[in-house]
Amino acid sequence: MKKAADVIIIGGGINGCAAAYYLAKRGVKDVIVLEAAKSIGHGGSSRNGGGVRQSGRDPRELPYAMYAVKHMWPTLSEELGVDVEYCQAGNLRLGKTEAHLEKLNRLAQNARNAGVDVRMIDAKEVKEINPYLSDEIIGASWCPTDGHANPMLTTLAYYKRAVELGVSFVKDAPVKAIQKVKGKARKVITADGTVFEGETMILAAGYESREIARTVGIDIPMTRYFEEALVTEMQPPMFDQMLGTADADFYGHQAKHGSFVFGSECGLEEAADMPLTDTRTSSLTMSAGCRAIMGYIPALKDAKIVRSWGGWLDMCIDEVPVISPVEEVPGLILACAFTGHGFGTAPSVGLMLSQMVVGEETVVDISALRYNRFKADR
Ligand SMILES: Cc1cc2nc3c(=O)[nH]c(=O)nc-3n(C[C@H](O)[C@H](O)[C@H](O)COP(=O)(O)OP(=O)(O)OC[C@H]3O[C@@H](n4cnc5c(N)ncnc54)[C@H](O)[C@@H]3O)c2cc1C
Repeated sequence: MKKAADVIIIGGGINGCAAAYYLAKRGVKDVIVLEAAKSIGHGGSSRNGGGVRQSGRDPRELPYAMYAVKHMWPTLSEELGVDVEYCQAGNLRLGKTEAHLEKLNRLAQNARNAGVDVRMIDAKEVKEINPYLSDEIIGASWCPTDGHANPMLTTLAYYKRAVELGVSFVKDAPVKAIQKVKGKARKVITADGTVFEGETMILAAGYESREIARTVGIDIPMTRYFEEALVTEMQPPMFDQMLGTADADFYGHQAKHGSFVFGSECGLEEAADMPLTDTRTSSLTMSAGCRAIMGYIPALKDAKIVRSWGGWLDMCIDEVPVISPVEEVPGLILACAFTGHGFGTAPSVGLMLSQMVVGEETVVDISALRYNRFKADR
């Protein structure tokens, strides 16, 4: 097994796999990806709702969310040689109260300021776009360039292309620590004591990045949160848009084969005492999610749930990720704390990570996401 490389990536989720692919594509093929699980994409990357959106984002995220939608997602299937089921049919973010509309309007204004085509629409226009929705909806924000894709296919497509280009993946290799040599991140140690060495390290291990970063004195202020999702039995084709709500009580879309995939925020559990290895859903939280969905899409009231699952989110204290080199630890690049919306941006994040490794300017300015934003300003 190869134990030294130019670049070591910790975490084989979509961000780690995309970074590996874009590195290899630009000729940096001496790359090892260390993944704790026995399979690639075992974390949030295979468990998410597939939303590829610009609307509803923090202004600091908009430049690279927009870059991905404009320049990367439309040609991704072709580029990776796998149909990732990208569908750019718009995002409706629904509201039932004036307070909901106020919140949606604020988010829409942020996005418009950054140049995203998103506008508020009334109940009549909502129904024209999607006749299956509840009469209780009084308005929505509408972003026609948003969409959705298949998370598992996208993650595995990046993995497959990275392997084809020469990247080495080591699975079942949980990283325990990073070690510095002469003041620079140099070694990565896994649970069985194996030592890997690299010139540059990208830490993209979701919430677990926090523990790993601590081994070189870096603390990323994030917590974890358990999010649940479900898939229904196949339905006749109904609509193509991605749906969300002002209160984020559910989000989802109809997949290419007909099933609906929904994520839901039931607000019932905090999951503080659940171990990270536990990804079971509960009948209590699932039924709360279903009530939220039926309240917006009554046409699905008889749809049967085929499967449900859960996954962990890496929630940053200021709700946007940390994507940057670390001054105190030269050679270490952080890519974590995606706060529940890191799937849709993974193409541009992967590309920018590859640019950081070779010291190139990133395609858009993401200096607002640097690690040292948490440092006291004296
Ligand atoms: C239910 C749910 C719904 C979501 N819906 C959406 C959505 O609609 N749109 C959107 O944009 N985002 C969504 N997200 C968030 C999105 O899935 C994540 O932000 C994204 O997948 C993050 O990718 P990642 O590669 O950074 O992390 P992950 O996919 O979590 O990958 C991290 C990898 O690191 C590995 N790892 C962990 N510890 C170690 C270690 N010690 N050593 C080595 N490897 C390690 C893990 O096994 C994992 O494979 C959702 C998430 C969930 C759970």
